Order: sequence, then C-alpha cells, then structure tokens
Amino acid sequence: MDDVALSQPVTVLKGVGSKVAERLQKLGITEIQDLLFHLPLRYQDRTRLLPLGSLRLQQECLVEGTVRLSQIKFGRRRSLLCHIEDGTGSLVLRFFHFSKVQQQHLAQGARVRCFGEVRNGPSSLEMVHPEYQIIAADTVIAVDAELTPIYPVTEGLHQLSFRKLMQQALACLDSQTMPELLSDSVRIHPVANYSLTEALRYVHRPPPDVDVQQLLDRKHPTQRRLAYEELLAQQISMRRVRANTQKHAAPILNGDKKHRQALLAHLPFPLTSAQHRVVDEILTDIGQSVPMQRLVQGDVGSGKTVVAAIAVVEAVAAGYQAVMMAPTELLAEQHLQTFKIWLEPLGIKVGWCAGKQTAAQRRQVLTELNAGDIQVAVGTHALFQDEVVFNNLGLVVIDEQHRFGVHQRLALRDKGRQVNSFPHQLVMTATPIPRTLAMTAYADLNVSVIDELPPGRSPVTTVVVPDSRRSEIVQRVHAACVDKRQVYWVCTLIEESEHLQCQAAEDAATELQQALPDLKIALVHGRMKAADKESTMQAFKSGEIDLLIATTVIEVGVDVPNASLMVIENAERLGLAQLHQLRGRVGRGSVQSHCVLMYHPPLSEHGQSRLSCLRDTNDGFVIAQRDLELRGPGELLGTRQTGLPAFRVANLLEDQDLLSVMSGAADRFLQTTPENTDALINRWFGHKIDFGHV
Ligand code: ADP
Ligand code: MG
Repeated sequence: MDDVALSQPVTVLKGVGSKVAERLQKLGITEIQDLLFHLPLRYQDRTRLLPLGSLRLQQECLVEGTVRLSQIKFGRRRSLLCHIEDGTGSLVLRFFHFSKVQQQHLAQGARVRCFGEVRNGPSSLEMVHPEYQIIAADTVIAVDAELTPIYPVTEGLHQLSFRKLMQQALACLDSQTMPELLSDSVRIHPVANYSLTEALRYVHRPPPDVDVQQLLDRKHPTQRRLAYEELLAQQISMRRVRANTQKHAAPILNGDKKHRQALLAHLPFPLTSAQHRVVDEILTDIGQSVPMQRLVQGDVGSGKTVVAAIAVVEAVAAGYQAVMMAPTELLAEQHLQTFKIWLEPLGIKVGWCAGKQTAAQRRQVLTELNAGDIQVAVGTHALFQDEVVFNNLGLVVIDEQHRFGVHQRLALRDKGRQVNSFPHQLVMTATPIPRTLAMTAYADLNVSVIDELPPGRSPVTTVVVPDSRRSEIVQRVHAACVDKRQVYWVCTLIEESEHLQCQAAEDAATELQQALPDLKIALVHGRMKAADKESTMQAFKSGEIDLLIATTVIEVGVDVPNASLMVIENAERLGLAQLHQLRGRVGRGSVQSHCVLMYHPPLSEHGQSRLSCLRDTNDGFVIAQRDLELRGPGELLGTRQTGLPAFRVANLLEDQDLLSVMSGAADRFLQTTPENTDALINRWFGHKIDFGHV
C-alpha cells in the first residue's frame, strides 16, 4: 500500500468498490490525496477515564462506574435509567430504546464503561444513549492511546469504515510527502514550523502526547498550518475570479454630466461627504474600460440608494441600460417608486421585473428591455431568468447583497455579457462585516464604506422587555399613534416557515385591532399579492395607516421617516444583525425613535447578552463583531448565500489573525509561485468552487 502514489484514485484502496467510490465522490474525494485533505471535524477523547465527580455539562467523555440502581421509568416516555457511581460521584445513563438483554446487562452491580455527552437531567447529570461496554470483574481494559478523529461523512458511509480508508491513505503518506505548494517566503510565521505532510499526519493521527485541549480547540500549530493554507487557497481563488473578470472589457460609463447634476439639484438633501466620496470612487471605476466590482457598505439609513441612483444615471447618460436588483419584492417596489421619482423627470424610463406580475405585463417589459426602450430595470431575482435579455446592459446594482450569493452575483453579470465585455457591478450591503472577514468574503471586490449617517438623525433608543408586559407596550403604541407617529409591529418565528410567520402576523393584527379599535391598522406579509403589499406600504408611507403589523419582510430597506416606534415580538429568536436591520426602519426622521425588543421568558444568558448588546449600541459594526463572536461567521454572512466555502480547518472567527496576513501572503504566493495556483485551489476547493471559470 505504501508505494501507491497519492494521486491514484481511491478505488485502489481496499474496501472501495463502485458504491463507496460514488459516496466518496459526493464528499469531493476521488484521489487518495483528496482523502487526506478531508480533515477531522473534531476529536473524541477516549484516552482517559474521567472521575464522575468531575464531569462538566456538554463534555464528551469516557467514564466508568458500577451500576447502583437500574430501573424502568414510565413517564411520558418509557425509559431505562441506570445510576452508576465510581466513588467520586454518580451519573444517570438514560435509554429510550433498549432490549431485555441490554436491561439484564445493565443490572445492579455491573461495571460499565461508557462514552457520551454529559447533559443535565431532571435530577442529576446524564448521558443519553451512551456507547457502553460491560466490563467483567477483575479485568482491566486499556483506554485508547490516541484521540479518535471524527470525520464529516455522508449517508451510507460510516465513520468506522471511513476511518479504515483513512488508515490506508495515511499508510501511503508514511513513505511519501504531500507536494508542498507554499514556498518559504509564503510560509511565514506563524506556520513555518510544520511541513504540510507533517501537519496532515498529525491531525489525522494525533500522537499520544498531544496537547489534547489545544487540538480540541483547533489551536494546535499543525491545525493552524492547515488553516493558513486553506485560507490562502480561498483568498487566491477569489482573486482569480477577480482577475478573470478584469481580463474582460467593460463599457466606459462617462456620460454627459448634465443628468447627474440635474438629479443632485432635485434631491431634497445634499449628499453627505461620505456619500460624495463613495460616488467619486464609483464614477472613477465605471469610467474605466474594465468591469467595476465594488461593494458599498453602509449602515442602515446611511443613504446607499441615492449613491446607486447616481451610478445608474451615469450609465444611462452614457447610453447604456442599468439594473437594480433587491432581495425582496417589497424593497424592490420601494426602489421602483424612488427611482421613478428621481429618474423619470430626467426622461429616463424605469421598468419593473418581479415574480408576481401578469404574463402580459411581463411580456411587455421584456420586449421593452430587449429593445432598449426601458433604460433602467428594477426588480427581484426574477431578473436572473433566461428570458430577460437586455439590449446593452452597462451597470448592475445589487442591493442588500448579503441576501444573494457570489454565484447569483456572477449570473447577473453574465446577463450583460457581450462579446468579451461585462457590465460594471455595484453591490450594496448594510451588513457591516468586520474588516478581516470582509476581506475574505469579498476578496474579489473593492470596498467603499459610507461611514456617516445623514445629519439630523437621533439615535434609536432600545429597550428589552418580557412579553408579560405586552399590554403596557400596546398602550405605548397607542400613545405614539395618538401623537401622530407611526408604528411597526414585527412578528417573528424561528421556523423558516413563511406560512407560520404570516399566521402569527395575522393573529397579532386581529388582537391589536381589538385592543386598539381607534387606530388604523394594516398588515403586510410575504404571502400577500404584490399589488396589495404595495398599496399597503404606500398607505403607510403617506400616513393613512397608524400601525403596520409585519413579518420580517420589512427587514431590509423599507423607508418611512415618520415611523418612530418599532415593537419586535420574540426578538430572542432573531440574530443580532437581523434585529439591527429591522430596527433600522425607525430613526429615519428627526424625531426621537424607540425600539422595543419583546422576548418570551425565560431568556437564556446567551439571549440576554445578545439583546443587551442591541440595547447598548446602535453601531452596526460593533453589533456585527458581537454577532460574529456569538454565532460565528456562517450565520452572520449566511455562508451558503455568500458562496463562501465551508472551511475544513479554518475558522473565520478564531483565525482572524491569519486573515489579516492573508492579503500579503497571497501577493507573495502569486509573485513567487504563480504556477502552483491551480494545484492549491484544487486541493482545497476543487470540487466546490466553480466560479473561477469565466
Ligand atoms: P440605506 O443605506 O439603508 O439603503 P436609504 O438609501 O434608504 O438608506 O436612505 C435612508 C433615508 O435617508 C432615505 O429617506 C433617504 O432619502 C435619506 N437620505 C439619503 N441620503 C441623505 C442625505 N445626504 N441627507 C439626508 N437624507 C438622506
Ligand atoms: Mg437600502
């Protein structure tokens, strides 16, 4: 086995027939070396027996004890409870499924060794369905010498058989080395001490003297060595996307300044200096003959829409079409209204393209887009569809980009593809992503930041209250409306079920209308017809409605300056970034605004700290950093949606120090060993990233 080349297909391994090969393929494993890059998710520590008196919650551990009492309990669920003790403490083993034989084995007096996770039971610590083994009297059974790696596997491929395959692959690695793709100048501190081969051997088969906790915490230098290479591979793949785009031409959008000046002259406000700066950056980009790829980050309410509108006007002035895409129909409609107000006086025709429109309307807009009669299209992801063909698309704007992925971003760009030419691309987000993370997630984009709110905004005051004080809050809503202010009441549910959300909103609307008969109350949710949603929003905007009950459909972008109170029900169910977005719907005018985060007790410690973070700050960057710490980057960025690959070893939170040196490392890599680029990307993301092609 040890003379088998690492590039051989896995089928040369024992135990890999066509079925197993197929399952391995699902994990992206076709060659032996792919197997070696399939890294353990975590480890189980069966190298030591822990005294029962020392157990901590959620700990996964190996314990041993004597059964003191074994009984079947008939409660809501029949279960077998085995109380074991070892002189230092005791533990309950709980089984919901058990046979007669098992019950006999686990009888009083038996000595049992088990492995499982420690949980809180009704009266004491428990393990539910631990792996266990009965130990005959007077025998000594050794503990494992090494940590047990746990691999991510797929259906039909068991952990144990996977480990057997890995043993064979590791045997190959005993006599060979994995090609090193990082030259010395790239392998700078803190990862210089290990070669790739050493690191791989170590993480798959940690030696008995390993610092166990360090490995479990993913902080071991060998893991960091691998994380470094993985992050570098990611950075380089994103740069390749970028470089590939830069190879193409783009239309030079440098139109008659007249239009832009007219738009600025008609705006009811002057731009902030941050908006001016970002506009300049964009205008410089789109005046070049390579496609702009720019991300505009700006906290909720910082005024991104007008920045986009200026870019759009510039494209049209240069004789091209532009498209503005938003993640929800509600937000897209609002952009449509705004753009109509701003652009139509300049003689620009704005069209609408969304899922819920009649076939006739759709045909009409498609024809006009294709003929170039409509210069600006506003819509939702319906704009992706094949039947949408532009006449000469010069600029793509994607709003609230965190809701879309890299792939969608690229798909929309391809829409405007002419022979060897791409439209410019502007993406906007209010999700303030910590800088190091942004560099990773958006390594293919230039970033502009609108770091200033328009003048005259007073910060939103936030309070956190239990829902037992609901009636008090309802009175507060009433008082605000009597005071000619408008109010949002947001219903949330943890289930990703739109249906249930809508139901909850409908129930709340009924209840609040009963409680507050003198108020004009309306409801918006995702299941309403587009036209109904639109007219409700219009009515709210124009002040005909006092209280708007909504689901999280209003999360992004909705802009009604007179709304100064927002109540969010079950706030504990939402992420911080999402709550911050929602709260951004108020505080848009000059009056003092309030946000009530209502939670359903009991609130966990974690939940408490989350909600108080929101109460204590209005700064989106602080909140994002906190969200990152509390929930991890996947949640914050929506890993799937950003197109960020799931990492095998790297952890975007804990490896922030690595992220911050990544840009320099990528420069050195590309300078010294550009020929290794394909091999590096392939090794880590080969099967996952297909956006490197263009
Ligand atoms: P976001 O960045 O959250 O998308 P919007 O573009 O919706 O923010 O702008 C929020 C509100 O601020 C809108 O009512 C918009 O008209 C207004 N606004 C934008 N820029 C300015 C400015 N420079 N001065 C005053 N108000 C502004
Ligand atoms: Mg917006």
